[in-house]
Amino acid sequence: MLPEFSTQRPETKEVALTLLRDLKDVKVLAGGTDLLVRMGRGSVHAHLMDIGALADLDCIEHGNGTLLVGAAATHRKVHEDHLVRTEAKSLSLASGLVGSPQIRNMGTIGGNLVNASPAADSIAPLLVHDAKVVLESEAGSRRVALEEFIVAPYKTSIRDDELLTRIEIKSCEGYREGYRRVAKRAAWAISRLSVAWAIKEEAGRFVEVRLAIGSCTPIPFRPKDAEAYLAGKEKGGQASRVAIDMIVSGIRLASGERPSFVYKIPVLEALLDEILRG
Ligand SMILES: Cc1cc2nc3c(=O)[nH]c(=O)nc-3n(C[C@H](O)[C@H](O)[C@H](O)COP(=O)(O)OP(=O)(O)OC[C@H]3O[C@@H](n4cnc5c(N)ncnc54)[C@H](O)[C@@H]3O)c2cc1C
Repeated sequence: MLPEFSTQRPETKEVALTLLRDLKDVKVLAGGTDLLVRMGRGSVHAHLMDIGALADLDCIEHGNGTLLVGAAATHRKVHEDHLVRTEAKSLSLASGLVGSPQIRNMGTIGGNLVNASPAADSIAPLLVHDAKVVLESEAGSRRVALEEFIVAPYKTSIRDDELLTRIEIKSCEGYREGYRRVAKRAAWAISRLSVAWAIKEEAGRFVEVRLAIGSCTPIPFRPKDAEAYLAGKEKGGQASRVAIDMIVSGIRLASGERPSFVYKIPVLEALLDEILRG
């Protein structure tokens, strides 16, 4: 049984921002696939504000030289969108692997980011794309890099009066890009390990390597030391081995020695080796 709460369904963003300012203990409700599960387990909120009627909050378009994805776009919409497929393929692939068709029809990219699970599938691809989140309130709007937005597992820097309205994504057209995850099953299972990548190469050398790893550390991360090391190095040589060792050392440093690392680390090493070989 869910605890008692009132619901609001604003039809404009302006009304939504006023409600967020004025109501005490209000939670934004997007697809509800995280929030309602938490409330079913005892989490209590006085008001839920359903953002399903807000026009344009699920648009995917170009603007300011970047790809703009509305926070209320469902995983299904992100997965199927042509712009996302061509400019942020890893995000398209990751969105197509979330949960099950039912979850992808309900769950949104914004909810995935604000929930900030270490296993959230959209975080690693968005890190690869240097994503920024746009947070709006009655007091104004701010743009925050995703790597600063998530401050701890299940914790972000969003304020109670703010609405996440869109995500700005740097295009990686021309890069070799992908997303792989390891889970207990192919569907209805969260990632135990995930890797997103966008790699530019020329004449057998890495020009730029962007990697992000999820479910191994408290917050998904970019191994920037290994990325910088790989730039300019020969593909298929000893450099990949050195970079993989750097990544694994970084994970052990951030997470300590976890029982799951007995299988996760060898699987991650093999996955990274495959990805870097292309
Ligand atoms: C069976 C099942 C399987 C799942 N499998 C996966 C999986 O494989 N991979 C994965 O990553 N996730 C998975 N999830 C988790 C979940 O579906 C996703 O995290 C989803 O993207 C959450 O989005 P939502 O719209 O449902 O968020 P909600 O549940 O509506 O909201 C989640 C949180 O974000 C806040 N919020 C939502 N939108 C906004 C906004 N625009 N501005 C401010 N705050 C906002 C809410 O207040 C709440 O705190 C699964 C969940 C279930 C129940």
